[in-house]
Amino acid sequence: MIQNAGDLRPKSMSTKESYNNSTVNAGVRRRGAFSPRWPLAGAGLLAILLYMYAGDSHFVKTVAQTPAPAAKQDAAPETTENVVMIVLDGVRTEEFFIGANPYASKRGPAQAKEKLFPFLWGELGARAQSAHSDSAKIETRFFGDRFRRRGRNRDAAGPKDGLCRIDNNYGISLPAYADLLGGVRQPTVRSNTFQGRLPHPTVLDRLLEHGFVGSELAVFSSWKHIASVVSATPPVDFHVNTGRQSGDRRPRWKDARYDRDLHKAVMGYLGERTDRGAGPLRFLFVAYNDSDEWAHIGNYGRYLNAMRRQDAYIRELYGYLESQPDYRAKTLYIITTDHGRGRGRHWKSHGRIPGSQYIWAMIHAPGQSARLTSLARALGERCSHTTLGDLAYAAATGEDPDLAANY
Ligand SMILES: [Zn+2]
Repeated sequence: MIQNAGDLRPKSMSTKESYNNSTVNAGVRRRGAFSPRWPLAGAGLLAILLYMYAGDSHFVKTVAQTPAPAAKQDAAPETTENVVMIVLDGVRTEEFFIGANPYASKRGPAQAKEKLFPFLWGELGARAQSAHSDSAKIETRFFGDRFRRRGRNRDAAGPKDGLCRIDNNYGISLPAYADLLGGVRQPTVRSNTFQGRLPHPTVLDRLLEHGFVGSELAVFSSWKHIASVVSATPPVDFHVNTGRQSGDRRPRWKDARYDRDLHKAVMGYLGERTDRGAGPLRFLFVAYNDSDEWAHIGNYGRYLNAMRRQDAYIRELYGYLESQPDYRAKTLYIITTDHGRGRGRHWKSHGRIPGSQYIWAMIHAPGQSARLTSLARALGERCSHTTLGDLAYAAATGEDPDLAANY
């Protein structure tokens, strides 16, 4: 990934000006503590009771004459079994929440966000809060709209200040991916070429520890360096496919393949799994990258085109997954970016420049409105990469994410 070498070094700009201190070192986690605020525990207890009700022959015998509780017949129980996490590298909040407008001028966007992201905003966004007064129908939530005016854009929720931020103070890619895939701040990742050992287990490590097997987890990315932050205990036994592969076209930039080749690899892998009856992926991570590269080159038109294509790739990926019984109505989609970019005429770059710290996020979970509401509550308290990583782990396992310990 192209980056200004200066991005990695502290500049004279004051910390206060460029970064919010509360985002730094915020990720010390404590695991295992029960958080009474987390409603999954109640759902889990209910599931155990229902299981006893259905599975214990003695219990069934004694209650056989009792009619089933009426409330259960109204709505199908919600299940979240799989998590798909998608990252669009270096897509600013400006483009995501406003649309095509390089300098975010007051004249309004040259192209609205629904034109830029017809699937994310037009289709999934139509299932967000503003479209439904009935909370049981809300299947999409957006976070981090820092352009929101009071009373408008009510489909975006988030922390009190409405902002989502990175967890570190670098504003570059790899530390952000490390925090996102860690569900916790990984303080040793300070550059895009980090090669060392991660101090904390990642979300993937924890999923394996929890009992998932390697064949249920997969990581795909256009940019090759993401491979360095997928596990604290390499080598890994899950599928990792990052960077340019043989047969891929050679892009204009180093260390990555084009998103088109990434997307082909993801779809090919999913189709091949279906063909051999491999069962669902419980955690799938896909990181697109063309957007960031075209921005660094300074080609705003191609930066926008990269987003339109990413939107179309996600549409195809989503359409495929939701057509499969293994995924349909039991998959949580988390979509975000790794970092923002400079404001106005500084849109080409990012790092320790103001604007880079702001990210956006959306979560979508068809048929799982109640689950979405509880996850949204957690993001409403603190919207950042580590929270998103934690949510991914919690949703896949049904465990208490213990978010209170994360900030
Ligand atoms: Zn970049």
